[in-house]
Amino acid sequence: MDAPIINFYAVQSAELESKKVEYNGVNIEVYFHKSHAWNVDRMIESVQDSIDYFTQAFGPYQHKQLRIIEFPRYRSFAQSFANTVPYSESIGFVTDSRDESKIDLPYYVTAHEVAHQWWGHQVSGANVEGAAVMSETLSQYSALMVLEKRFGPEKLRKFLKYELDRYLMGRTGEAFEEMPLYKTQAQQYLHYNKGSVVMMAIYDRLGEKRLNAALKAFLNEFRYQSTPYPTTLDLLSYLKQDATQAEQNFIDDQFKYITLYELEMKEVSISDEADSDGFYSVTLNVEAVKQRADGQGEETEQPLDELIDIVLFSDDPENLLAEDFVIYSQKHQIVTGTNIIELRVKEKPLFAGVDPYVKLVDKDNVNNLAKF
Ligand SMILES: [Zn+2]
Repeated sequence: MDAPIINFYAVQSAELESKKVEYNGVNIEVYFHKSHAWNVDRMIESVQDSIDYFTQAFGPYQHKQLRIIEFPRYRSFAQSFANTVPYSESIGFVTDSRDESKIDLPYYVTAHEVAHQWWGHQVSGANVEGAAVMSETLSQYSALMVLEKRFGPEKLRKFLKYELDRYLMGRTGEAFEEMPLYKTQAQQYLHYNKGSVVMMAIYDRLGEKRLNAALKAFLNEFRYQSTPYPTTLDLLSYLKQDATQAEQNFIDDQFKYITLYELEMKEVSISDEADSDGFYSVTLNVEAVKQRADGQGEETEQPLDELIDIVLFSDDPENLLAEDFVIYSQKHQIVTGTNIIELRVKEKPLFAGVDPYVKLVDKDNVNNLAKF
């Protein structure tokens, strides 16, 4: 190998077709069963987009090849080894990706696996609580950024809703004790599902530039390092490196505590006619509560006073085929209890949402939207 690798590799043997593309000095190769060629180009496109994004965000790709190799659906997963990704036919190769209202599974899974070449292979966590945050949570974040660039924030919303639901279901079924994210153990609902929502929330607060600069600095410090391996405490110190006190509190809420919101768009109304300047008056009633749970699910109310998205839509945000349907999108200071928000807009909205892009861990995200 051209760069250090972990003592961890896969051996596969099969009669396969291949498609090979050279891209900026990297040989991208997909090996597939001869009748399963449908999504090969989509996977190659995802590898290219991912290598581009991760290289500029976190630093160079360390190998000269990136190979994806299909295996039958005895098992349903893909896994990243150094420059090699065994990939089940059932989570990409035989997926019907023609319906554009659905998440592009092969594109997403590929981006996640490519991200592991940085998160897991360039830096890997100490064998202690929270280690999976450094591999899985950061790979999820990286893949979601590639998805957002490709498909836009409106389509990412569906994915984050799914991740949030999986987290909420996971904590309901927890047999022992829910850990805060920075101490996740074998709890996939934390380091995958909650991790996606949390990282996108921190991205929303810090912005792409600052968050990626923090991750890049963390990676630079610990690249190929095993004496010692980093823990989530190291990661958190980088995430907070130039954060304001309010941002640091938010990061702690997400990682060190089990923080839950219940935001509801309770009532919406709009004037029948536009005023003489052509504006409609919109009144929104948002109910809000913030809680902290312990590992057994016992909740304590926390004071809430945070900037939260308020969005007006001209179409149903559940309709992934809708385009240009955001009429108004601003953060408003939301406090515990009833918040009355008055807006003036030129176009009549059809839906109003509080945190509609699922940037917070909300116990019921269905009531975040209301129809006029
Ligand atoms: Zn993974």
